[in-house]
Amino acid sequence: MTKHNDAALVVLSGGQDSTTCLFWAKERYKKLYAVSFDYGQRHNNEVEIAREMARRAGAEFRLIKSDIIGSLGHNALVDTAENVDTERHENALPNTFVPGRNLFFLSMAAVWARELGVKTIITGVSQTDFSGYPDCRDTFIKSLNATLNLAMDEQFEIVTPLMWLDKADTWEMADQLGVFDLIRNETLTCYNGVKGDGCGECLSCQLRRKGLEEYLQRRGK
Ligand code: ZN
Repeated sequence: MTKHNDAALVVLSGGQDSTTCLFWAKERYKKLYAVSFDYGQRHNNEVEIAREMARRAGAEFRLIKSDIIGSLGHNALVDTAENVDTERHENALPNTFVPGRNLFFLSMAAVWARELGVKTIITGVSQTDFSGYPDCRDTFIKSLNATLNLAMDEQFEIVTPLMWLDKADTWEMADQLGVFDLIRNETLTCYNGVKGDGCGECLSCQLRRKGLEEYLQRRGK
């Protein structure tokens, strides 16, 4: 594949989706940057996994301390006294929702991108299999993109390779990129902090496994 001349900045959590986006970007952009956020999430190995994934993709990595986001609002990802939801509640956001997270993270990513002279910001949000988080929807991303451009008089483009893919499609993308095993074994998506196939119980593990089973069936293995 012909690479763009330009660079891209990937918002990286070390999970399945953002890591898939990182390797998707590696095929397309000459220079890669990756940014992770330390917001007091209960599993700090997330950050170390993100750093390792960035290293493997040849991306320049930066960690931004942002625990203020966890201290302002309440959620189960930063409050270790609370168990993470294992099922969806009708008309309610899961207790793993971190209010303002993507707004805050993408805004900070854009400030660093501007400093670097990078126009393309990549995030692994998806509207298809989203966990009910409003800040994973396409309309939010488009709105924020317009706002960031107005805020900094820039021409950023927020790119969302997974927006219309379901989890099975995301596994397929990883496979096509040649990083299926890496993503299956070395990324962390589980809300209980278990790498690879995870705890199997939390909403995130359920979604990841369902997609994996669908994909493996599709692939015929
Ligand atoms: Zn889990």
